[in-house]
Amino acid sequence: MRIVFCSSEVVPFTKTGGLADVAGSLPQALEKLGHELIIITPYYKTAKFSEVKKYSLNEVAVSKIGKNIKVYLLGNEKCFGRDGIYGDKNGDYSDNLQRFSFYCYELLKLLKRLESPVDVIHCHDWHTALIPVILKNEYQKDPFFRNIKSVFTIHNLAYQGVFPKEQYVHLGLDPELFHIDGFEFYDQINVMKAGLIFADRVTTVSPQYAMEIQHREFGCGLDGVLRNRPEGVAGILNGLDYDLWNPQTDPLVEFPYSAKDWSNKAKNKASLQKAVGLPQRPDVPLFGFVGRLCHQKGLDILIESLDELMEHNIQLVFVGSGGERYHRLLEACAQKYPEKIGLFLKFGEEMARRTYAGSDFFMMPSVYEPCGLGQMISLCYGTIPIVHRTGGLADTITAYDPFRSTGNGFVFFQYTKEGFVFCFEQAVRAYNDKAQFKALIERAFACRFTWDKSALEYEKIYKE
Ligand code: ADP
Repeated sequence: MRIVFCSSEVVPFTKTGGLADVAGSLPQALEKLGHELIIITPYYKTAKFSEVKKYSLNEVAVSKIGKNIKVYLLGNEKCFGRDGIYGDKNGDYSDNLQRFSFYCYELLKLLKRLESPVDVIHCHDWHTALIPVILKNEYQKDPFFRNIKSVFTIHNLAYQGVFPKEQYVHLGLDPELFHIDGFEFYDQINVMKAGLIFADRVTTVSPQYAMEIQHREFGCGLDGVLRNRPEGVAGILNGLDYDLWNPQTDPLVEFPYSAKDWSNKAKNKASLQKAVGLPQRPDVPLFGFVGRLCHQKGLDILIESLDELMEHNIQLVFVGSGGERYHRLLEACAQKYPEKIGLFLKFGEEMARRTYAGSDFFMMPSVYEPCGLGQMISLCYGTIPIVHRTGGLADTITAYDPFRSTGNGFVFFQYTKEGFVFCFEQAVRAYNDKAQFKALIERAFACRFTWDKSALEYEKIYKE
């Protein structure tokens, strides 16, 4: 089949989160199944890529990933010639509707210019949600587009692309589509909602999240729209690209190690402690956090629990950036406990990887988590996740049971401070039982969430 991938971020060009990882690896897994793929993504000023060729007259650059997957990067100074991807320190850019509507239209124009037939357009998150709407409405009369089917994947239902209705003119679509079965959402434009209605198939990134978002509590106002889809919402667990995430070959891991011999992990721990200004103590369990600093990632419960956690002989490292408020709160905590809390409050690939490698535990107490890659990455770096049982975390992490010698992490069921602290203390106890902890690390290393199985599930959806 000929499949077009559309995503606002793709590894290795641009990344702010897991969406980019998926958009860079899933096409390669599908290519291995014999499909023809191309990827089309915005050409941001900050995009990284080595092989650039100008395509035709417009600002389109071409690169390649996998065996033969062409990546087209759509440029436009006005839309993408700025430092941020979605916004800056003042929040989201106010012209995001224009920026991503430009991207969707240009993408479809490019496909037509390329003149090669397309079977399926696979759209990811709200930035691409206009595509199914355009295909099913404006472009139905065009023989090139008429038979193209669309799949829409929700990577995070909380980000829907909601804008004031006055901006509707920027969509270039029939005003009739602004109604309850289209864009209208509490008298505003909701781009993802329209995409969910007009896409031929809707999927999301884990089976558990697929169930959760069809209930009011996690549906972000769109649970009814999702429940109304006749063929439902398919939950397909994201995979991990084990070529990119491997402590033996990761160039950013100072002291390489593997599942067979992880003695070097202790050296990475010492180096991480030094890098964030913590005492180099091999005997103290080190708990890492890597992620966006926001409510979703469980920062509130973490910060609330800190005083209680600090009664233990432990160290914590936080790597990430996000809400100003969380930066300030974490900085205050680190000042209060300088021997126990280390910070690197930036988005940085090097410190992220050093934290996966150098920590003993990985904290991911997310309020909700569509799939989550952090817990999968930490497992393959032999670092034990502590998670809230939600979304993809529930699908990938099973609770440690010292009596049966099972489980690959620590799991709390209710999103409460008490639940988290209880779970955290279990982890501290487990760390002090050397034989059990070694067996737990071995089980973590043995976990594999490859793309092979998930790619077959996507293939089935495309065939439908
Ligand atoms: P998200 O909700 O942000 O997409 P995921 O767990 O699905 O969360 O994916 C996060 C991805 O972003 C992982 O590859 C993780 O390593 C990376 N990441 C998160 N925070 C940082 C950071 N501060 N620096 C570098 N990479 C980060």
